[in-house]
Amino acid sequence: MQIADISEEIDHELISKDQIEHKIAEVARQVSDDYRGGDLLLVGVLKGAVNTMVNVAMNLSIPADMDFMSLSSYGSGTVSTGTVSIRQDLTTDVKGRRVLIVEDIVDSGHTLDWLVKELEGRGAASVDVFVLLEKPARREVAVDVRYKGFEIPDEFVVGFGLDYDERFRNLDSIAVLRPEVYQGEEA
Ligand code: 5GP
Repeated sequence: MQIADISEEIDHELISKDQIEHKIAEVARQVSDDYRGGDLLLVGVLKGAVNTMVNVAMNLSIPADMDFMSLSSYGSGTVSTGTVSIRQDLTTDVKGRRVLIVEDIVDSGHTLDWLVKELEGRGAASVDVFVLLEKPARREVAVDVRYKGFEIPDEFVVGFGLDYDERFRNLDSIAVLRPEVYQGEEA
């Protein structure tokens, strides 16, 4: 789905499909260099990171295993609760593995901070982080992000996997919604 398909709900496009794909390919080259000859387990955080996960994986020039985890840190609104719980766990034992977490966005930092500690606690040999988007203005917890796509302003974004109340995940770019779309919700 493209911006033109839902133009009445979109305020503006923030990052185009081309920009995203170009950036992910660039970061994937770096990941390939860093993990070449070694173990690599990609852990994608459902559902927001699915598009990024597939794009990163396909752009690697080295083998990588893939697994997914579903976490809950947000309800249907746009504000972090700071509480993280597992909805669906990995099927892979991460003990002794070199893990690269792939996440859509780091906002307050609570989700990634929790997940890095969780996987380290399970005995992973290393845990690094790739995030497509980072909102530096909203950070509450420091997270060591090794691979980063874009820094964005403090605006709620959708597309390329990111949703608003489960909508807009299949938009092929990153966009800011019109305020009317959130009417009645705390932004
Ligand atoms: P954090 O724990 O860093 O505050 O939040 C991480 C999670 O919050 C992300 O995985 C994502 O699901 C959600 N989130 C944070 N900011 C945004 C945003 O601008 N748009 C969307 N769709 N989700 C967001």
